Amino acid sequence: MGDPMDPVVIVGAGPVGLTAALLLARWGVPSVVLESRAERDPVGSKAICFQRDVLEVFDRVGCAAPMVAEGVTWTTGRTYYRSHELFVTRFPETSAGFPPWINISQASVERFLWERAEAEPLIEIRRSHEVTALTEHGDHVVAHVRGGGEIRGSHLVGCDGAGSAVRGLIGLTAEGHTFEDRFLIADIRADLPFPSERRFYFDPPWNPGRQVLVHHCPDSVWRIDWQVPAGYDLEGERSTGALDRRIRQVAGDVPYEVVWLSVYRFHERVAPSFSRGRVFLAGDAAHLYAPFGARGLNSGVQDADNLAWKIALVRHGRAPGGLLGTYDAERRAAALENLRVTSATMRFLVPGSEQERAGRAAALESAVTDPAARSRIDSGRLAEPYWYLDSPLTTPTHGPDFPREAGAVRPAVGGVICPDLPLAGGGRARARFGTGFVLLTGSPEAVPELGEAASAAVDAPVEAHVVPGLDAVYVVRPDGHLAAVLPGPGVPSGLATALRRACALTPGIG
Ligand SMILES: Cc1cc2nc3c(=O)[nH]c(=O)nc-3n(C[C@H](O)[C@H](O)[C@H](O)COP(=O)(O)OP(=O)(O)OC[C@H]3O[C@@H](n4cnc5c(N)ncnc54)[C@H](O)[C@@H]3O)c2cc1C
Repeated sequence: MGDPMDPVVIVGAGPVGLTAALLLARWGVPSVVLESRAERDPVGSKAICFQRDVLEVFDRVGCAAPMVAEGVTWTTGRTYYRSHELFVTRFPETSAGFPPWINISQASVERFLWERAEAEPLIEIRRSHEVTALTEHGDHVVAHVRGGGEIRGSHLVGCDGAGSAVRGLIGLTAEGHTFEDRFLIADIRADLPFPSERRFYFDPPWNPGRQVLVHHCPDSVWRIDWQVPAGYDLEGERSTGALDRRIRQVAGDVPYEVVWLSVYRFHERVAPSFSRGRVFLAGDAAHLYAPFGARGLNSGVQDADNLAWKIALVRHGRAPGGLLGTYDAERRAAALENLRVTSATMRFLVPGSEQERAGRAAALESAVTDPAARSRIDSGRLAEPYWYLDSPLTTPTHGPDFPREAGAVRPAVGGVICPDLPLAGGGRARARFGTGFVLLTGSPEAVPELGEAASAAVDAPVEAHVVPGLDAVYVVRPDGHLAAVLPGPGVPSGLATALRRACALTPGIG
């Protein structure tokens, strides 16, 4: 028998697992996080770029403010080819809410999440607990850990990273491709006279035929990322002084300290399904992308955000089990889009054929003089939230001309993440998201009726707020995505249907 006291079992206390646990706790759902490591690893640096909508998720779990305070805000990306600056990309700042991008080390992000999770009574983190087997039952699941020990849960979320044991235990593999080329990443501490901008160099005179990416991180640390050939020998470069010369080509003749040095190979892989029964995959366990575009961890946090409210509503008996079936539909579609975009980037950065190599060279040459050619230059299309236009939970309102290209401005239609809007009386709409549905209306008089209509339609918590001047009713899911955009300003006739659909109460969902 399922026990209502069963926690959710989360495998992996990486950033995605900890975010999932913290989001569940906001809904009053207990979790046990099983982590194979004995201690948190405070060194090392993988992710550095965190996107605005992901900071909103961290804000819901009380971590965004210290991350922004520690991080380096940036709003500009510059792309160079040889000695030419090809173009500048600007990411607009808003008067309220979060910056478009911050750079902060993944180790710091994990520290903030760990500290918060350890202080949360509904979360129990068990270190040195490596999950080696699972048994699934009709109404619960049991995780088995190395050395003995069983932990029972209502659901299990595999957030155990690239080599996910959970993925293998439910019979899945991460299908796709691993690149032969290596990328050398050095985080150096130095006082450099550069602005806090993303700078991408194609074929700089000091790394001909390949590219270099430079980012400013907190505490005077600079991330330098070089594409290097398949046989690259880091130790050899270090011992001959070639590494020092390489770093000085970017940093100049100033004192510097190496904080972190590593050589990576990148992958483009997605699991064929993100769930089986009561077991779910999130983060790198479900998908792996090359990091140009910062889509890995950013999208992993969005996996956790998508799943937490669905598990919570189903556990609380406020939505049918079919709601959980939509996790795979929505997040796998997001993963395939991320895969499409990052694969195109990698084809441009690391051409796989003579034809692609020639195309890359021609595009770069023409972009020097022809602004129209610049859209073909791909140094990474930066992370953004996915649009659940075709989700069974969405009441569709988009037209055939919905802009699907990376980085486009998306209209506020069903499935898209809700823009941040100022509430009447002060505050931001996004600060209200997370623990229920939110209805946004332009009409203060409609608020009581909207509330009544919503409670008659669904058991999920719903609150209504006024956004001055809004001429539609926005039905916003707990993860901030628009379930529907209905004609306003009163109580739209389709409100009950849209809410029931967003809770998977419409027959055939899941
Ligand atoms: C060089 C580089 C740069 C990157 N830059 C960016 C960036 O700027 N922005 C971005 O969004 N992403 C970036 N990424 C991707 C990002 O680092 C990953 O997407 C992120 O670490 C995934 O987090 P996760 O929680 O899913 O997995 P992980 O961070 O891998 O955490 C998994 C956890 O599970 C534990 N575990 C594993 N197996 C078990 C088991 N059997 N039982 C119990 N515990 C287990 C592990 O010890 C670990 O703590 C970058 C990656 C690289 C390599």
